[in-house]
Amino acid sequence: MTKELYDLGEMPPLGHVPERMHAMTIRAERYGPPEEAFAHEIVPVPKVGPGRVLVYTMTAGINYNNVWAALGRPADVIAARRKLGEPEDYHVGGSDGAGIVWAVGEGVTGLEVGDHVILSPGDWDERSDDIRQGRDPAASRSMRAWGYESNHGSFGQFCLVRDVQCHPKPEHLTWEVAGGFLAAAATAHRQLFGWQPHTVRPGDPVLVWGGAGSLGAFATQLVRNAGGRAVAVVSTEEKARVCRDLGAVGTILRTEFDHWGRVPEDDDPAYRHWADGVRAFGRRFWEELGERRSPRIVFEHSGADTLPTSLYLCDNEGMVVTCGATSGYRSDIDLRFLWMRLKRLQGSHFATTADCRIVTDLVARGLLDPCVSSVVGFDEIGTAHQEMHDNVHPWGNRVARVNALG
Ligand code: NDP
Repeated sequence: MTKELYDLGEMPPLGHVPERMHAMTIRAERYGPPEEAFAHEIVPVPKVGPGRVLVYTMTAGINYNNVWAALGRPADVIAARRKLGEPEDYHVGGSDGAGIVWAVGEGVTGLEVGDHVILSPGDWDERSDDIRQGRDPAASRSMRAWGYESNHGSFGQFCLVRDVQCHPKPEHLTWEVAGGFLAAAATAHRQLFGWQPHTVRPGDPVLVWGGAGSLGAFATQLVRNAGGRAVAVVSTEEKARVCRDLGAVGTILRTEFDHWGRVPEDDDPAYRHWADGVRAFGRRFWEELGERRSPRIVFEHSGADTLPTSLYLCDNEGMVVTCGATSGYRSDIDLRFLWMRLKRLQGSHFATTADCRIVTDLVARGLLDPCVSSVVGFDEIGTAHQEMHDNVHPWGNRVARVNALG
């Protein structure tokens, strides 16, 4: 017998799509602290259009996208979607996840109902004109970060993706691992290996901000795997230990410095404090590395607080590669360091499908620790985002159980 609504963890007959589902939603009237913005609601199961795949969600990764969605800034994701003609006045987030293919839309090939898949957040249209002209999909006009810029993410009992977002789940990975690593691992992989000639080479010094965070934990390991030498920046001794276990050759506690943020004008007496701070930080980098070499690659995502230091410290002809701005997206760039020393500031957004397959294979073969350090219940999704916002969350990656009840 089929039903209109199933409990979480109660599996409908394979392929039967119920009318309604459980979801953790965000609504505009609740925008603000994530623990208040999220609520458990019953909403319609999304319809499966051409090229789309409906997935019975087993687990969902917690990542920063839905901290931003909950806050309603810097973008109001619900208003942005409604402008595009999508009617829902609620947002079901979740940009990382794993589950079972439940229905496929017209034109989908290579996927069948019952397949176990890992979902990537790269929601772009492979048939869009700019991609056909050779534009990188991450920069395509059709690109949206799934479960952030688009609706029906993994915080719903069923989620809706494009076929290009589905990657086969290696059989031996648990649902908790499968749903928790891809967005960060693939993003970190692209940052470190996607921007020729600035890819990690054996011996290269690399500065990794937030070395025990979701992105940073992968960056630290990927640098080690390539023979590079990561010095990880963190805010606690415990996280420093994690980074050393993951292969960092050194660690720096950012709490020992206070020159972060905007750079004062040269004639402002405060400039001396900034310059002393950044030089001391640089000396500390050399001490941790064990030699006087500057980072050939700086792995950025922390934003306004750290970017001036990143650009200063980066080696001549080196690259600062960034995919985010946790501490703020308006930052100071002293252009003299950029042009006089031939440095490169590279933006990097998510990853290619090849990056997704590479990191999944590394995890499957035990060469990349997925760093899933904790698992939370469905109703703890709001609290988990609040802890991430407050930077008091556990190291690595956090996963929420959706239909996989353990
Ligand atoms: P996490 O919270 O897991 O890790 C970020 C780490 O950054 C924290 O562990 C913290 O480490 C450090 N950090 C926080 N605030 C500061 C600060 N003011 N200065 C220096 N370090 C700081 O987040 P993620 O790794 O998942 O994501 C990081 C950022 O990257 C987010 O802004 C996210 O939106 C973005 N992102 C972008 C992607 C893209 O495709 N464009 C993909 C994935 C993430 P500690 O306190 O130990 O220093």
